[in-house]
Amino acid sequence: MSTTTHAIAAPGPGAPLERTTIERRDLRPDDVLIDIAYAGICHSDIHQARGEWGEAIFPMVPGHEIAGTVAAVGSAVTKYQVGDRVGVGCMVDSCGECEYCQAGTEQFCVKGNVQTYNGVGFDGEPTYGGYSQQVVVKDAFVCRIPDGIGLDVAAPLLCAGITTYSPLRQWGAGPGKKVAIVGLGGLGHMAVKLAAAMGAEVTVLSQSLKKQEDGKRLGATEYYATADESTFEVLRGKFDLILNTVSAQIPVDAYLGLLRTGGAMVNVGAPGEPLSYNAFSLIAGNKALAGSMIGGIPETQEMLDFCAEHGIGAEIETISADDVNTAYERVSASDVRYRFVIDTATINS
Ligand code: NAP
Ligand code: ZN
Repeated sequence: MSTTTHAIAAPGPGAPLERTTIERRDLRPDDVLIDIAYAGICHSDIHQARGEWGEAIFPMVPGHEIAGTVAAVGSAVTKYQVGDRVGVGCMVDSCGECEYCQAGTEQFCVKGNVQTYNGVGFDGEPTYGGYSQQVVVKDAFVCRIPDGIGLDVAAPLLCAGITTYSPLRQWGAGPGKKVAIVGLGGLGHMAVKLAAAMGAEVTVLSQSLKKQEDGKRLGATEYYATADESTFEVLRGKFDLILNTVSAQIPVDAYLGLLRTGGAMVNVGAPGEPLSYNAFSLIAGNKALAGSMIGGIPETQEMLDFCAEHGIGAEIETISADDVNTAYERVSASDVRYRFVIDTATINS
C-alpha cells in the first residue's frame, strides 16, 4: 500500500515536463510525510532533466528545494509533529555509519547518499523529488524551517542556501574579507545575501550590469560586468575568495587572476562540460581552486537558523505548474530574479 500524489515529471531527457501521479511509500517507523507547499527550481534540476550530467532515471520528478508541513509521522519519530514547518534538500538517506555520515557530512557518504530525485533508495526504489504535493522522507533528512521565514522563500534555502553557505563558512567569508560572487542567479543571489550577512565585503561579477541595482540591494558593495574586459584589469589581485556559481563554462584563468596571493576560488557551478585552467594561474600566487557540494544536514539546519536570525529568505517568482517549462527556458537564459518556486497546490488544478 502506498499513497498516490500529484507531481510534475520529465518523461525523458529534454522532454517537456508534464503533470502525472506518483506513489509515495507507506510510512516506516522513522519516516515523515510532508505536505509540500513550495518547491524551488534549481539549475541542477534542468541539467538532470535534460540529461546534461549523463545517465539519469526517467520519468524524473525533479525538485530538491522542498518546503512544507508535516502531515504524519512514523511510530518512532520524536523530533517532528504534525503541523511542523519543515524542509528537505538534496539528500533523503545515507548509510549513517561511515566517517562522513558520523561527521554530519552525509553528502560524502562512502556508500553514496540517496539523492532526493534521480536516485535509488537503499530499498532499490527510484526517488522522486519535490515537484509534487507530498513526499515521504526519513526523519534524519528533514530540517526545521524556523518561524519567521515564509515557506515560499525558505524552499530555495534547502539547496541554493546551503550550497553557498557551506563554502562561504569553510573559506572564511567574514569581516575584512573581500568576496566575489560570480553569477547572480539562484545560488549567486543567496551567496550575496549570506556573505554580506557574514560581514564580508561583497562584489558581484555578472555577465552584464542589468541586475546591478538588485545586487546592491541584496548586499553587494560593488558590481562588475564580466563581458567588459577591463573588469579583469581593474579587479586584478583583489579578492580573498571567489565563489563561482555559473552553470556554464567560464575562463577560469581570468578569474584566478582576480585573487590575492593565497586566495581561493571555490567552484559550485556544475556545467556538464569540463572547466580547464593553466597550472601557472595557481602556482604564481599560491592560490587554491576548490569545489564544494551542498552541505550536510547539521549545517543545513545551522544555515536555516542563520537565515532566520538575519531575516534572510530567497528572492522568488512564484509560479504555477503550468509555467514550469517556461521557467526552465528562462533560467537557461539567465532570466530569473532569482529563483522560481512552484506553488504545488497548482499541480492538480
Ligand atoms: P542559475 O539560477 O541559472 O544561475 C546561474 C547564473 O550563472 C546565471 O544567473 C548567470 O548569472 C550565470 N551564467 C549563466 N550562463 C552563463 C555563461 N554562459 N557565462 C557566464 N555566466 C553565466 O543557476 P543556479 O540554480 O544558481 O545553479 C548554478 C550552478 O550551480 C548550476 O550548474 C547548478 O547545477 C550548480 N549547483 C551546484 C551545487 C553543488 O552542490 N555544487 C548545488 C546546486 C547547484 P549572471 O546573469 O549574473 O551572469
Ligand atoms: Zn540544487
